Amino acid sequence: MNKPQILVVEDDPPIRNLISATLKAHGYRFTTAATGEGALSEAASRAPDVILLDLGLPDMDGVEVIRRVREWSNAPIIVISARSEDADKIEALDAGADDYLTKPFSVEELLARLRVTQRRLALMGSAAQEAVYVNGPLTVDYSSGCAFLSGEELRLTPIEYKLLCLLARNTGKVLTHKFITQSVWGSSWENDVASLRVFMATLRKKLEGAPGSPRYIQTHVGIGYRMLRVEN
Ligand code: CA
Repeated sequence: MNKPQILVVEDDPPIRNLISATLKAHGYRFTTAATGEGALSEAASRAPDVILLDLGLPDMDGVEVIRRVREWSNAPIIVISARSEDADKIEALDAGADDYLTKPFSVEELLARLRVTQRRLALMGSAAQEAVYVNGPLTVDYSSGCAFLSGEELRLTPIEYKLLCLLARNTGKVLTHKFITQSVWGSSWENDVASLRVFMATLRKKLEGAPGSPRYIQTHVGIGYRMLRVEN
């Protein structure tokens, strides 16, 4: 698959240079912007496939950039944040970001996130309409409402199945507790998040082979969950 066109939004020159050098060395096409306004105009004129976005910009909050880009674009957004507070990441994810990197990050981490995003991009077009979801030994047949692991039907409760479908349809994207509870229960009270933990634990028990080393559902402590693509 062709390497995606990336827009790098970062006001800190050393970090922008590090990211640019990494992308260049790995054959990615990219452009850069140092401000929120610059990011919006680059995004509008080039329609990048992926946006790497620093949250702390001089002229605008990165979350505002996400909101404005999301008005017209579904391009995956990976947030780069120096702030270690979960609240900022959650706000960015709820505004429509797909993933996040916390500064300082390694070049390997950056490349790993880009690979996850590329796989997501490759599937984005087809995934929305597909009737059957296949991810390694996991199959979800949306039309019949059944899920299978290695051909064996998973005995899921309606809520577990709903959770699995939500994660599957957003494979590669970090979903916040709030997003998940609102999608599944229509609300996001404290006790919904507590229920979510319980249902996620029972879903995992049925879905994941070895307890303690989940292959499919990744936990982002204090933030949410992500469905990973499993290699065959
Ligand atoms: Ca910054």
